[in-house]
Amino acid sequence: MITTFAKNQSLILIVDDEAFSRMQLRLALEREGYQIAEACNGREALNICEKTHPDIILLDAIMPDMDGFECCTRLHSADFSQDIPILMITGLDDQESVDRAFAVGAIDFVTKPIHWPVLRQRVKRLISESQVQKNLEFANQELQKLVTIDQLTQVANRRRFEEYFAQEWKRLIGEKMPISLIMADVDFFKLYNDNYGHQLGDRCLQAVATSIQNTVQRSSDLVARYGGEELAIILPNTDTPGAVTVAENICSAVRKLAIPHNCSPVSSFVTISAGVATMIPQPNFHYQEIIVLADRQLYRAKTSGRDRVEFSRAGTYYDQD
Ligand code: GH3
Ligand code: MG
Ligand code: MG
Repeated sequence: MITTFAKNQSLILIVDDEAFSRMQLRLALEREGYQIAEACNGREALNICEKTHPDIILLDAIMPDMDGFECCTRLHSADFSQDIPILMITGLDDQESVDRAFAVGAIDFVTKPIHWPVLRQRVKRLISESQVQKNLEFANQELQKLVTIDQLTQVANRRRFEEYFAQEWKRLIGEKMPISLIMADVDFFKLYNDNYGHQLGDRCLQAVATSIQNTVQRSSDLVARYGGEELAIILPNTDTPGAVTVAENICSAVRKLAIPHNCSPVSSFVTISAGVATMIPQPNFHYQEIIVLADRQLYRAKTSGRDRVEFSRAGTYYDQD
């Protein structure tokens, strides 16, 4: 049961088997402006946490069935509640309970009968610490995006590309499974910029990257801006025929965008060329080798007319063209 629904109020979950204790706690904390949820046993506490993700939990140590210590242990191991600070309510002067509370992961405790000024200050401090923690996590996520995502196209940047390639290469050495790479490059993009200007050039790149991102299917596929107007797609656990299909789909998706390119000698719309290479990662090779192979195929696609896919017919291990 949750009462008071004003926005931006921190939510406190009170877990206590005694209705009178819950009511006292509720009244005291509502007076401080907090939103309150109540649970009368451990099971209910877990349910409410999963649904409402409170900011902190006040947990009575002594309850029938699942006591506060066991409940605390479970809350700490569940994905949905492991980061919620728990303030344990223990018996007065009970050293063993206090030690146990910390041992099972409580962040702090208050004793019963409750000393209200102490409870008020501890709750206030925990809420503010939890807020700081949340802000920090949010800032970290934003920072993570900044260092891994290309600002213009919103696909992965070169740094993320290298990191992911190294990681997947290592993983697939163990699995003895193939990895494919598609290197794709916008055709006659210099002419596009010269004709339409850099701003439209930027928008064109964004549209091309988005359509490539929307074309790849698996969550393990990574689309990255390799540099300039060159995009790379890492396809773990994908053989040559699979990667060629993806590359053809990408070229066709870009064609279908029908972005006018009056100066292109090969089409009246923006097109891309793509080179595909596949390897089964080996410990004595570096993933850079596959980039060289895919680049070579991209060069072939460019010199043989553009707006097409080229790949090594020699198979998966080595490029022999
Ligand atoms: P090709 O078909 O052989 O790939 O010809 P191209 O003109 O696309 O290749 P080239 O390497 O001669 O020119 C690439 C152009 O891409 C030149 C560069 O200014 C432009 N470019 C690279 N990055 C960006 C970008 O972020 N925004 C814009 N607008 N243009 C870019
Ligand atoms: Mg009790
Ligand atoms: Mg180009």
